[in-house]
Amino acid sequence: MPNFHWPDWACGRYASSMSSDPRYHRQTLLPGIGERGQERLRDSTVLIAGCGALGTVAADLLCRAGVGTLVIVDRDVVEATNLQRQTLFTERDAERGIPKAEAARLRLGQANSTVRIRAFVEDIDAGTVGAVAAGCDLVLDGLDNFETRYLLNDYAVANGIPYIYGAAVATEGMTMPILPRGGPGEDARIQWADREATPCLRCLFPEPPPPGTTPTCDTAGVLGSVTAMVAAHQVSQVIKLIVGDIAAVDRTLRSFDLWTNKHRAMDTSAASNPECTCCVHAHFEFLDSEAASARMLCGRNAVQLRPGRTRSSFDLDRIERVLAAHGDFKRGAASVRGVLEGERSPSGHPVSMLVFEDGRAIVEGDTDLDWARGVFDRFIGS
Ligand SMILES: [Zn+2]
Repeated sequence: MPNFHWPDWACGRYASSMSSDPRYHRQTLLPGIGERGQERLRDSTVLIAGCGALGTVAADLLCRAGVGTLVIVDRDVVEATNLQRQTLFTERDAERGIPKAEAARLRLGQANSTVRIRAFVEDIDAGTVGAVAAGCDLVLDGLDNFETRYLLNDYAVANGIPYIYGAAVATEGMTMPILPRGGPGEDARIQWADREATPCLRCLFPEPPPPGTTPTCDTAGVLGSVTAMVAAHQVSQVIKLIVGDIAAVDRTLRSFDLWTNKHRAMDTSAASNPECTCCVHAHFEFLDSEAASARMLCGRNAVQLRPGRTRSSFDLDRIERVLAAHGDFKRGAASVRGVLEGERSPSGHPVSMLVFEDGRAIVEGDTDLDWARGVFDRFIGS
């Protein structure tokens, strides 16, 4: 028989102390946090970019942990298909179609009323990122599209704040903390030494995958436990960074599949690209790009999406294959067109999509710009 011993934590060997606010008692008992770490959490501000599966779990944990200010940005409204994994939302939120950022703010206020929650119902793009991220000590990625991830990577490197990448689809999750090589900003609350810096997202993946080439949760599904695990890992890194235990931060690109039980941790310390466009040459293509634009099309109950400079053209064969799984789509000379089966717009109309080779797309069924961007990202991805 192997001889097991209960660990110290199970034997009550750690001394107890009572914080001024009893809600943090079990957390301040942790040697890595303590009263000092709790104060640092209270004085910090975290941007949660996207409030879906990763964002709701992260926001809930960080709010309960006592992060002083949470900035939550999301462009979507709560839908019934979110409830399986987006833990802050209720059936009532879905019935009423409340914006996710707003529903999250109301729910979090009930969990910890001492935390300041700033909710923005909007798209994060080159035009809005400065306003929503101003004053944030770090960025937690709860996004569903690559274009915005590369934008936030640019923003974090340009401003010297950490960016905690996270992604989940089907039964797989992936996460990686980024401590920009340019070092922390002058007034940054989170400080790290040169030797503690990591590669950025563009060091590892110089360009985002072309639209339509990667599965999304809407096309491949997603297991709720995977998103919870990714968010829990991200939040652990956030807390370590805020309390100043930089040495404890996971310095790997960590990926796992909760169905096959495969885990991988790729050491990224040797992966820094000496010619990285972003963190070496400080060329912030996504931050400096013209924001991708969306505009209503008069008399058509439709929205036209025009790509920013970072996305050029579509591979229509690939787009046709992706969309064919979701409705009757036909290939034209320089376009793919069809109706998304079972999909309804906010005004109750069928939803059709017309995608052009030059990178434009027209989403028909409503004139709501954020809704149209959301349909595009869900079915094609960006
Ligand atoms: Zn880089």
